[in-house]
Amino acid sequence: MTELLDVFARRVREPDFVAASAQKFLELGRRAGRFPVATAWRDGTTAEIDVWCSNDYLGMGQHPAVLAATKQAVDEFGAGAGGSRYIAGTNRYHMLLERELAELHGKESALLFSSGYMANDGSLTVLAGQAADCLVFSDELNHASIIDGLRHSGAQKHVFRHNDTGHLEQLLANADPDRPKLIVIESVYSMTGDIAPLAEIARLAERYRAMTFLDEVHAVGMYGPQGAGIAARDGLADRFTVVMGTLAKGFGTTGGYIAGPTAVVEAVSAFARPFIFTTALPPAVAAGALAAVRHLRTSEVERDRLKENARVLHQQLRAAGIPFLSDHTHIVSVLVGSDSACRELAALLLDRHGIYIQAIAGPSIPAGHEILRIAPDATHTPDEVRSLAAILDGLWKELGLPFSPR
Ligand code: PMP
Repeated sequence: MTELLDVFARRVREPDFVAASAQKFLELGRRAGRFPVATAWRDGTTAEIDVWCSNDYLGMGQHPAVLAATKQAVDEFGAGAGGSRYIAGTNRYHMLLERELAELHGKESALLFSSGYMANDGSLTVLAGQAADCLVFSDELNHASIIDGLRHSGAQKHVFRHNDTGHLEQLLANADPDRPKLIVIESVYSMTGDIAPLAEIARLAERYRAMTFLDEVHAVGMYGPQGAGIAARDGLADRFTVVMGTLAKGFGTTGGYIAGPTAVVEAVSAFARPFIFTTALPPAVAAGALAAVRHLRTSEVERDRLKENARVLHQQLRAAGIPFLSDHTHIVSVLVGSDSACRELAALLLDRHGIYIQAIAGPSIPAGHEILRIAPDATHTPDEVRSLAAILDGLWKELGLPFSPR
């Protein structure tokens, strides 16, 4: 072992090895594509490029109430939290926000994390890892943060085909009835924009006595009464044990959270390493997020705009015959189905029209499934949506891409 390390250390010092490695990283970087500067302000004067793939779906990152609350909290408490939640970093805005989020979801308690990624990773590591012998059932399209949390838990995992409740039931039925079970799903899937069959999953969870963990990252703020998400929209919130969300999309700021029974939240706060061993969210971020949550609990304006923009985009793409994956949500993934065409389309949109839509291609997506993931947001107008669809239609023809069969 020591010998091996010596050889490696010597090789690392060889100039060729270092140069070759650097070249390799450069190539990998290039393959990942460029990294456009997406200035978020869209007031017509400061936008460097016109962004159609932002996750600030409701424009709350620019909302005056959010900005005012953030600025006020900066004046009150400064720029940072000053510590982890357990050591000097807990501020009253964290407490207020946790209470607000618990209320929003109709749960006993909520717990903030510095990001949605950390909320999933930390909570799932604890939930699936603390119950001895826990069996996990996870949708195949679940987000990387869910996959990582489940991996870190060490629990045995069954992956079921995307939104396929027949497959899920088969796996549940074949599992040992005495082992604790956890079903992990998203409500709105981030790349496909489709919605999980929540009522059927809740039924299966009850039938097979499984706990449920529902990632509503792409739904909170946007759907349901007061922006409480899809489960709330469908009257199912109390049938999901834990609802997880982000503050970085519909709520326009940053951070993540879980909401659920106090016992679960306390266990997570006691054991989740990404909660314990990191600096808390800046109080000003928590204050801004609190303003966003409160605003969206009473205002339908932003949700209505988003819904209308999504409806117009679905309608225009359908009329043009441009294939897209789902018309259930504001995530509109245009199916290009070729790596080179997808990248070319995105480059033409940016270079000719100043429109930025990220090509989602390899290696994050299997060959043949490449998409342009369009997310119209509440700050766009229906006319802008129409003009985007017309530009896309022109480029689609120019590149000779296949139209959907009529
Ligand atoms: N869950 C899902 C489904 C996501 O798409 C994302 C991020 N895109 C996250 C969790 C992580 O959220 P955050 O960006 O707040 O870390």
